[in-house]
Amino acid sequence: MTKVLLVEDEEAIRKFVKINLEREGYDVIEAGSGEEGIEKAMSEEPDIVVLDVMLPGIDGFQVCRELRSEKESLGIIMLTAKSQDIDKILGLEYGTDDYMTKPFNPTELVLRIKSLERRIEGNTEEKEAESILEFPPFKIDTYARRFYKDGVEIELTPTEYMIVKLFLENPGKAIKRDEMLNLVWGYDFIGDSKIVDVNIRRVRAKIEEDAAKPKYIETVWGLGYRWKTN
Ligand code: CA
Repeated sequence: MTKVLLVEDEEAIRKFVKINLEREGYDVIEAGSGEEGIEKAMSEEPDIVVLDVMLPGIDGFQVCRELRSEKESLGIIMLTAKSQDIDKILGLEYGTDDYMTKPFNPTELVLRIKSLERRIEGNTEEKEAESILEFPPFKIDTYARRFYKDGVEIELTPTEYMIVKLFLENPGKAIKRDEMLNLVWGYDFIGDSKIVDVNIRRVRAKIEEDAAKPKYIETVWGLGYRWKTN
């Protein structure tokens, strides 16, 4: 059962979201502050954290940074009250998998959590024999859900992992931003395709020797990105 930690100081919203998620079969843990959120993330080991940005004390950004430094593979969805937070939420340092602007429809939150679950699982439908793809210096093991460069594992967030997997399964193919939103996020993203660009930048920072001169992930101007094959 997927465990979701809900970090939100407004009790009414927390209860409402909890009821909706439990109805969908999720195991929901609640935290009413950033401090409690960090503590429960450590003790309860959730798969996904739904994190309100506006919290008293430690805010959602700080919580996100703390959680990412502990566990890259954690799924994080941020809730924001103000549209001007979007740029910050999509900031490179936080590594948010998705975000929603309040007020939001709980059905939509459920859809996004389901999409994130697929990223966390990495679509492990493949047979074990077919699970390893090698593009020296890279190797992806989709069965173990691990990614390596020169034999050293690179830790990726659920979203970054799906992006890398998509590239390695389609080397040389120009992938449009919209297509990537669809294939990685799993639905027509109502927001901004900026979330694609930010995640690409994060992946580049992790895998390229020089992220300013990418050798592996090429930008296809006006379209999207391509995994370079020589
Ligand atoms: Ca709040």
